[in-house]
Amino acid sequence: MPQFEYQLLRTSKISSGLRLSIHPEKGVIVRAPFWVPETLVRKFVEAKSAWVEKHLKKLQARIAPAKQYLAGEKHLYFGQEYLLTITEASAPQRTTAQISADQLQVTLFDGHTGAQRINEIQDAILRLYLETGIAVITEKVNHFTTQLGVEYSRIDIKKVSSIWGSCSPSNRLCFNRKLIMAPPEVVEYVVIHEVCHLVQRNHSSRFWALVARFDPEFREHRRWLHRHHLLLSL
Ligand SMILES: [Zn+2]
Repeated sequence: MPQFEYQLLRTSKISSGLRLSIHPEKGVIVRAPFWVPETLVRKFVEAKSAWVEKHLKKLQARIAPAKQYLAGEKHLYFGQEYLLTITEASAPQRTTAQISADQLQVTLFDGHTGAQRINEIQDAILRLYLETGIAVITEKVNHFTTQLGVEYSRIDIKKVSSIWGSCSPSNRLCFNRKLIMAPPEVVEYVVIHEVCHLVQRNHSSRFWALVARFDPEFREHRRWLHRHHLLLSL
């Protein structure tokens, strides 16, 4: 018996056979034509179970474990791991976070306990990431727009799930805040990609040639995002 749940989607096509796929968020999906009995579907899944379990395990290793916000935990910031340290202050004060050497240092009032303590730490880290992250990304955008001789209207760093960046018709650039965890060369690729859209508003060969001019390794950086996106959560 398979050790996993699966979702059965019925298809209307007469000819298409049984198909099994694994989706990072939706899990195991089996597509079967409406006329295939469930017993047959189950047999099909059982026959594939070793393969599915192997891939589910691989997928698990690529998903970021939920943060606990405890001292000693590792946090990614522009591709580097920083050790979380927590300093408690006896007087009430605003919770702060800063990066120093290989540490992510949080200072907070020791009167904060339980869930409030975790929220305070989480918020302080997010504030630090967004404040410094927007500065780093803006600097990169300014560098490449100057090189290309183009202008943008504004930059937004947002919590978006499925895209890394976008460029609007009014030249607004938007970046996924998870990029603050990605290596600098990968962030640079996303910046170059969006800045090049200020010139070429499509994904034509001319667009990719322009991207390659500034980032000859862009394929590798694109692949990195594809492989590691589940490890980044912000
Ligand atoms: Zn694009």
